[in-house]
Amino acid sequence: MASSLFAGFAKLADTVAATSSKIAKRDALAAYLAGLEVEDLGPVVSWLGGSALEGVAERLGLGWAQASAALAMASGAEEEALRAAWLRHSDFGDAAADLLAGRPTSRLTVAEVAAGYRAISVTRKTDKRVGLMAELLRRASAAEARYLAKIAAGELRIGLREGLLEEAVAAAFDASLTAVRRALMLTGEAAETARLARAGHLADAALHLGRPIRFMLATPAADAVEIIRRVGDEAWVEDKYDGIRAQLHALDGQIQLFSRDLKNITAAFPEIVSAASAIPGRFVLDGELVPYRSGQVMDFASLQTRLGRVRPSAELIDRVPVVLVAFDLLHHGGVDHLEHPLRDRRAGLESLRLPEATGGLILYSHLERASSAEAVDALFDEARARHNEGLMVKDPTSVYQPGRRGMGWLKLKKALATLDCVVVGVEWGHGKRRAVLSDYTFAVRTDGGVLLTIGKAFTGLTDAEIAALTEHFTEITVEDFGRYRTVAPEVIIEVAFDRIMRSGRHRSGFALRFPRIVRIRTDKSLAEIDDLAGVEALFMAQASGRILLATGRDGEVERIAATGELAGG
Ligand code: AMP
Repeated sequence: MASSLFAGFAKLADTVAATSSKIAKRDALAAYLAGLEVEDLGPVVSWLGGSALEGVAERLGLGWAQASAALAMASGAEEEALRAAWLRHSDFGDAAADLLAGRPTSRLTVAEVAAGYRAISVTRKTDKRVGLMAELLRRASAAEARYLAKIAAGELRIGLREGLLEEAVAAAFDASLTAVRRALMLTGEAAETARLARAGHLADAALHLGRPIRFMLATPAADAVEIIRRVGDEAWVEDKYDGIRAQLHALDGQIQLFSRDLKNITAAFPEIVSAASAIPGRFVLDGELVPYRSGQVMDFASLQTRLGRVRPSAELIDRVPVVLVAFDLLHHGGVDHLEHPLRDRRAGLESLRLPEATGGLILYSHLERASSAEAVDALFDEARARHNEGLMVKDPTSVYQPGRRGMGWLKLKKALATLDCVVVGVEWGHGKRRAVLSDYTFAVRTDGGVLLTIGKAFTGLTDAEIAALTEHFTEITVEDFGRYRTVAPEVIIEVAFDRIMRSGRHRSGFALRFPRIVRIRTDKSLAEIDDLAGVEALFMAQASGRILLATGRDGEVERIAATGELAGG
């Protein structure tokens, strides 16, 4: 049978966006999915989930600058008109529909669009990728272009709350929601899940060795009291290592490593790969790569030099030795462990005797049990003494939830919690920084994806980082006001600060005291930055005097008193 028209997808997306009723959204989606050919099901479900491509690890690789160039080519709009459209909508899709207004419905099919995105993702040359995207847009009607562009930008914004797509897939193919969720967790792919559901084979879903799944995430906790309240009286307390998250897949000596954003980073850590390849069997580990020498964790900054290298030199490996600190086991010998409690996963992990088998290149996270807030506080100090960032507190009965920020894992960091924000505006610096864009205005997001500014920071980054960012921000400038420019929301930064205050100065209604940039989070996407609800929760926690603050004196940690002043000042 022939592939459905993409116009049908655009119509469905409009229908879903137009209603706020969850049930109406689900029913519209289910009816549409049930009517699709099996070949169209994969791409459509992936698009609805916010990705242009089916594979979890696949990237379209079309940044804001290229997407705008494609839109300019397709619409013939001048730079000025393009920027104006972007500023009117702050959404690439809506800007595209605006600039292509009046174009009639096309014959573009779902299969053609899927093939177009695939071609973009495998084409290396930037101008060719831009050309391919322009070609898709050129053929589309305004309504179709809206969604072509939104999919390319990685966000559909039609009010599909988490879980709704799973519900629709279950309803479309008369499957149980639990079975759909389970399959999605194991395969990591909405497309594969939907195909299994359609074929009535959800029970066959399994983790694929060599294909990464999303990482389980942690919820920030205000302090030890909150942790004990949440986890109950058997808290598993691990050191929180400051490195880069990694998933290691071992298939009978064949090793692959994936980063938090599911990129294949196997070639970057040859020493870990070679150590792991000595271990027989099939398994998947979750852990953190940390710089480590003579039994000691080194500063995260030293790892920075290895991050940019695809293939490190022997000299660099020697200068910045790395270990993998493993803390979870997701698969072993043909059995998926995600649904088993952490207690059992850890026992399985330890049975692999990794430190012995790898000559100390794969270690286990430091683990203790605690049943009181005092014990957690003491462990926090010990973790800091071991040069680690803080604690990860886990519930031993919790299952592994890929991609979820569950209550099974809580994180407790050194300073007042940091926020992950996106840079939306940049300014030329002063003095020796007058030739670089060094002052950044950043934002958090609302539930609906609207960006609201919360602060401005100009400290924390190195000169080299600022120089590289200056170049990047020049490329993604949306509007240039002379001193200040708005930029496409692409660069994610982690910001530390001393306090949160209510303030009319920024659109979020909050401002940060003494904000400083901790680091650039290339591993996080726009969808993963902190949201306003999280900021409000931190503000409330702070108001009740239950937030940890670093005073800066030898990393010593003190509490803010209920008045909001620093205890011991
Ligand atoms: P954050 O990146 O601040 O959101 O904190 C969560 C991250 O802490 C995880 O994604 C891991 O990369 C890292 N991490 C460090 N140590 C552990 C641990 N013992 N268990 C789980 N995650 C850890």
